[in-house]
Amino acid sequence: MGGTTTYATGGCQCGAVRFRVTEPLGRANLCHCRMCQRATGNAFAPLVTARGVEFEGEPGRFASSDVAERGFCGRCGTPLFYAPVGSDAVELMIGALDDPGAVQPALHYGIESRVAWLHLADGLPEFETRPGGLSGRGPTTITSRQHVPSGAAAKEDR
Ligand SMILES: [Zn+2]
Ligand SMILES: [Zn+2]
Repeated sequence: MGGTTTYATGGCQCGAVRFRVTEPLGRANLCHCRMCQRATGNAFAPLVTARGVEFEGEPGRFASSDVAERGFCGRCGTPLFYAPVGSDAVELMIGALDDPGAVQPALHYGIESRVAWLHLADGLPEFETRPGGLSGRGPTTITSRQHVPSGAAAKEDR
């Protein structure tokens, strides 16, 4: 841990939280799942797997479910990452990187929740949210702690 090479840097809007990545970035995906939509206030979350992330300024964390935390700046609110519980990796928000264009997404995930007006003709493979995640090695049931407004619950199974 704590290598000397920096593979990526980034941070929040206000600068209270900065980070650097000390290992090569992993796979990037665009996650359309309902929980990522809600966590980012966006149509999807562009994420890239990162290990060896060193923070300067402590990010806030919300346990959005029993299997993951969502990291953010406690001062300006910028969403920064998704962190599976018990993993040494986090999924960084690509938009929080100083050079988001340097990361090339490899796939779409959670496409069962993709908003109807979004048309991305990028030819990337598409996957539905599946038990255990993409690897199939995660838990098969997830208890969400996100607030789901009454009426919306019937449309969301997670
Ligand atoms: Zn901030
Ligand atoms: Zn997601």
